[in-house]
Amino acid sequence: MNNNLAIYPGTFDPITLGHLDIIERSVSIFEEVIVAVGRNIGKQPLFSVEERTDMIEKTTAHLSNVRVSNFDGLIVDYAKKMNAKAMIRGLRAMSDFEFEFQMALVNRTLHPDLVQVFLMPHEAYTHLNSTIVREVSSFGGDISSFVTPYVAKVLLAKFHKKY
Ligand code: ADP
Repeated sequence: MNNNLAIYPGTFDPITLGHLDIIERSVSIFEEVIVAVGRNIGKQPLFSVEERTDMIEKTTAHLSNVRVSNFDGLIVDYAKKMNAKAMIRGLRAMSDFEFEFQMALVNRTLHPDLVQVFLMPHEAYTHLNSTIVREVSSFGGDISSFVTPYVAKVLLAKFHKKY
């Protein structure tokens, strides 16, 4: 197992400043962080895996120790394949806790050696999720305090067919 490697899985549909906050905290602990984009059979994402990957790469371009990849199936299997020591999750509010707690116990049963690390973002991002960003953008609202300018541009193009 690579003790210096952590994976940060999610849908990132699209990546927000809340996700970026968690990634920046992660790279201050681990030498390398893989942001792993889930193909998510359950959800029907707005953006393709390629589009989501591109937006994450652009958003994390200033961080040399971040890699972006994608996975199918169980995250614990992907963590094993990558030899990662840890998995990062973000905790926004108490509302995240119950789901994350349940998932953490399941993941620990499936892969006891994987350390699960929960990080809290800056207060400015505790209300933020990708669903809200998609909704506000679809109605033409200002999302500049939620995502990077590049992601805002991609959203605008997706919903309003203009740059
Ligand atoms: P969502 O669709 O809920 O925005 P993802 O599946 O992309 O989220 O989330 C991946 C991980 O990032 C999860 O651990 C989630 O709790 C965390 N996360 C999402 N948004 C934020 C945020 N604003 N601040 C901190 N963590 C977040």
